[in-house]
Amino acid sequence: MDEVIIDVRLNEYASRDRNPHVPFGPDEIAAAAAACRDEGAGIAHFHARDPASGAASTDPGLYCEIARALRGATDLVLLPTLGAGVATDVEVRLAHVAAMGRDPETRADLAPLDLVTTNLTVYDARERRFVSDDRIYANPVRTLRALSEGVRKAGAHPVPVVWNVGSLRLIEPLLEAGVLREPLYVELTLTAGGILDGHPPTPRGLEALLDFLPPGLDLEWAVLCVGGNLLDLADRVLESGGHFALGLGDYPYPELGMPSNAELVRQVVERARAHGREPAGPGATRRRLGLG
Ligand code: ZN
Repeated sequence: MDEVIIDVRLNEYASRDRNPHVPFGPDEIAAAAAACRDEGAGIAHFHARDPASGAASTDPGLYCEIARALRGATDLVLLPTLGAGVATDVEVRLAHVAAMGRDPETRADLAPLDLVTTNLTVYDARERRFVSDDRIYANPVRTLRALSEGVRKAGAHPVPVVWNVGSLRLIEPLLEAGVLREPLYVELTLTAGGILDGHPPTPRGLEALLDFLPPGLDLEWAVLCVGGNLLDLADRVLESGGHFALGLGDYPYPELGMPSNAELVRQVVERARAHGREPAGPGATRRRLGLG
């Protein structure tokens, strides 16, 4: 049986304007994650948010609190952010993962390395204007090396996050440099909703990434879609042997009414079963990704 790994992207920096189920505080994140675990999720990806306002936070103490709540409520693999686009200083980006690593109860299992330096510009096609026009997400190789070292020192494994064909071409040199190690869990990012610096969430957008996935490596890949409906591509991902990273952090899924994260996981599991694939759950996810 070929299992499917489901990484639930619980909150990112999404607002509650379009879906009120986005979790902010530690208890909300833990409750949402536990419901996703019950539906078949294996990994919880989360960002720290101010529990009341939802404002982005880099507070290591808040991350530890979230991790403790998650560990108390679930056995999910923990994948906190490294502050995508919020913090720029490497020390600040790593501070919470380092703090989490000081206690086995809060230690992260995985942490994302975005293999790209890119525009985070948002374009509003309807209004024909740039909502933002000066946001850069910088990840030069020196930064990737420092982030990888910091992540490993904190007892976690780096997850290469791919944004384009150039990201994929970086994987083998980064393996040779020891920045990455096999087995690899690679996340392939597609972008919609006005974020232009990624492949579109179309069959051709995905195929272009799969065409350049380095062959012969011990590697599992998952697809995520920032700003769009990943379920539209579910059959193609399942047929191609891929896994899923999705959640309300990326997109509010108005097509499904006002779903919770757990309802999204249920949708993926239904589609997976139609393809003869069962959800991996945390235990099988750990085995497949070589996590202790
Ligand atoms: Zn994230």
